[in-house]
Amino acid sequence: MNKRRRIYEGKAKILYEGPEPGTLVQHFKDDATALNGKKHAQIEGKGVLNNRISEYIFTKLGDIGVPTHFIKRINMREQLIREVEIIPLEVVIRNVAAGSLATRLGLEEGMQLPRSIVEFYYKNDKLNDPMVSEEHITAFGWATPQEIDEVMSLALRINDFMVGLFLGIGIRLIDFKIEFGRHYENEQVRIVLADEISPDSCRFWDNTTGDKLDKDRFRRDMGGVLEAYQEVARRLGVLTEAPRSRGAGPVLVTTNGQKPN
Ligand code: UDP
Repeated sequence: MNKRRRIYEGKAKILYEGPEPGTLVQHFKDDATALNGKKHAQIEGKGVLNNRISEYIFTKLGDIGVPTHFIKRINMREQLIREVEIIPLEVVIRNVAAGSLATRLGLEEGMQLPRSIVEFYYKNDKLNDPMVSEEHITAFGWATPQEIDEVMSLALRINDFMVGLFLGIGIRLIDFKIEFGRHYENEQVRIVLADEISPDSCRFWDNTTGDKLDKDRFRRDMGGVLEAYQEVARRLGVLTEAPRSRGAGPVLVTTNGQKPN
């Protein structure tokens, strides 16, 4: 396994060469980073949970016709994906004011936004991922106007689906970050959802208690990081004591977060 060629290593994931041309293996590590890598820790078991949670969401998005890079999960920490050319943008979709938006615009955290807002950040650690507009994106050739339109429409579709999915398990989807890539096939190029969707890249608040079930627990030294990720996985039905049949769907929870009898 370790002889596979490593294509790229990021903060929380490693990409290896895949078994066939045009495929890669995406490996989820236990590393957690914040403040652009200045804060770093190992959270044992996080990679396994993110692999499962991301698999679940990408599969469901695929089911409603959102093109993604996901092919299949290989093992506890790895999934087989399509090789894509990553568009160097972090696309953030927000439903509720939090984090950098709340700070920048002086909004109260938790305020419902008048509508979902899509923002673009240029993926560049050295520059701290600066926020950019469509003008910058097209002027510097990071994406074409047509590609931005496609990214916007996919981002809003993904958001609508995710808001409903998480509300059904008692979780408020505050905001999240996604990435897209270009998939080249038979002279065709298609924009597909890439990277991951997990508590590392989303803000999830319990709908009743307001408890944070995401990476903010790590960013803000709140403790209980793994437990929060486990709770998201459990409610999605991807982490249960007894193995559940494939496609059994999310686990219903009552408003106090307990499984109904
Ligand atoms: N986010 C991310 N990676 C980043 C920056 C943000 O996954 O490098 C996610 C973050 O988890 C949140 C959303 O994008 O769900 C919006 O983050 P924000 O801009 O508020 O930044 P933060 O407050 O996390 O610095």
